[in-house]
Amino acid sequence: MSSFDYDFFVIGAGSGGVRAARTAAALGAKVGIAEEKHYGGTCVNVGCVPKKLFVYASQFPHQAQLAAGFGLQFAKPEFDWASLRDRKTQEVERLNGIYQNLLRNSGVDCFNARAQLLSNQEVELSTGQRIRAKHILIAVGGKPWLPDDLLGREHLTNSDQMFYLPQFPKRALVVGGGYIAVEFAGILNGLGCETTLIHRGDYLLRGFDLDVRQRLQQSMQARGIRVNTQTQLQSIVKSDSGLVASFNNSELADQEFDLVLCATGRMPYTQDLGLEQAGVELDDRGAIKVDERYQTTATNVYAVGDVLERVTLTPVALAEGMLVARQLFAGQEQKLSYDFIPSAVFSQPELAVCGLTEEQALEQYPELDIYQSEFKPMLHSLGGSDERCYMKLVVDAVSQRVVGAMVLGEHAAEMMQGFAVAMNMGATKADFDATIGIHPSAAEEMVTMRTKRQ
Ligand code: NDP
Repeated sequence: MSSFDYDFFVIGAGSGGVRAARTAAALGAKVGIAEEKHYGGTCVNVGCVPKKLFVYASQFPHQAQLAAGFGLQFAKPEFDWASLRDRKTQEVERLNGIYQNLLRNSGVDCFNARAQLLSNQEVELSTGQRIRAKHILIAVGGKPWLPDDLLGREHLTNSDQMFYLPQFPKRALVVGGGYIAVEFAGILNGLGCETTLIHRGDYLLRGFDLDVRQRLQQSMQARGIRVNTQTQLQSIVKSDSGLVASFNNSELADQEFDLVLCATGRMPYTQDLGLEQAGVELDDRGAIKVDERYQTTATNVYAVGDVLERVTLTPVALAEGMLVARQLFAGQEQKLSYDFIPSAVFSQPELAVCGLTEEQALEQYPELDIYQSEFKPMLHSLGGSDERCYMKLVVDAVSQRVVGAMVLGEHAAEMMQGFAVAMNMGATKADFDATIGIHPSAAEEMVTMRTKRQ
């Protein structure tokens, strides 16, 4: 009889952990999983899912404005934050239950407890129970990071808290220029909050193509968000009527807000996990070090998802989790390609990308062909908005392979998923050109760009 309680023990029931546990169980492994909070992890509880529900809500007032151009007049929308928040929470709780059921129905034992590594093959749960496992997977994710030295730090709200605010703010300051800052600025603004965003860089969304960064910033401003770049928060002081923020930008006077959202990044959630006693090492960013098979510096201990700080996206964690399970219990040694991973920022307007930015492509290819299209979407022709849709293709001039694609405009994410399949298969510009468009749609522009940028 085995001296192990489990073949595979997973710490953290988020996207990566749940997928790994279910895959391993389906392959015949005896699997246990520990979760200290809610099943589904960041994505289901304080990330992708509730965020997208909020994005939907915040788009309705804008849609109602556009509707006027089509002869439909709606009364000024009245927004009930408590209703949105609580209905969202009900939906999240429903998903928590589904996740647990999926695990149980796959034969995985669920432990509602915090787990700590005692060695590379043993964990201790917060209930005191000790479990020995042949293989252990760390899939604990990340958590919001706030600057340590800010005066008035205690008055900051992080992105997790945004989903449970007691009251919806009338005036909000968003600090940061990444995914979360940009998405929440759109949500707040769309739902009627006077929204200011400050970012320390020149343009929002560092790491994205400069052409889309500039255009997104303009569109967000046109929708009513005050965007101040090259600006840092210096302090927050509580007043009788709100929170007074001061900035390092001399052109920006102190201002009062009801809420200051600090979206300055996330960090791997590795505290008190017992990593040291198991021999699991961190890199200099605080992320767990793994080799190409996701094995940590401790034999038998693996890690996937946001705790690696590699590509912190739900579908990537899912793929990594599945890969580890198949590796251990089906003997499959596949590798995950991190090229051509499509992703979307649910900003307003939406941004979706796949592959390289023009700047990144220039570092890899001697010559590029750039195709771009900028147009007024049909919806806005009667809707009356001046917002434009922007698309860009980055093509390796020698092989003619499309190595980068991006769309800034409504439904960008829905468009990009299909193009990502083609790009992963190595599609060339000629393949795009040979594809017939769907008319009338914005997406058809992706296959009808004929003129190279000079
Ligand atoms: P990001 O890394 O995307 O952005 C962090 C932002 O904070 C950057 O603009 C950064 O500026 C700024 N910043 C960092 N430190 C400071 C500081 N000390 N003072 C002022 N500004 C600072 O992190 P997010 O928290 O927005 O998102 C975390 C990750 O979660 C994302 O990278 C993404 O992978 C994932 N995510 C994905 C979503 C999606 O798929 N739609 C949605 C939300 C999150 P600078 O650029 O100058 O460094």
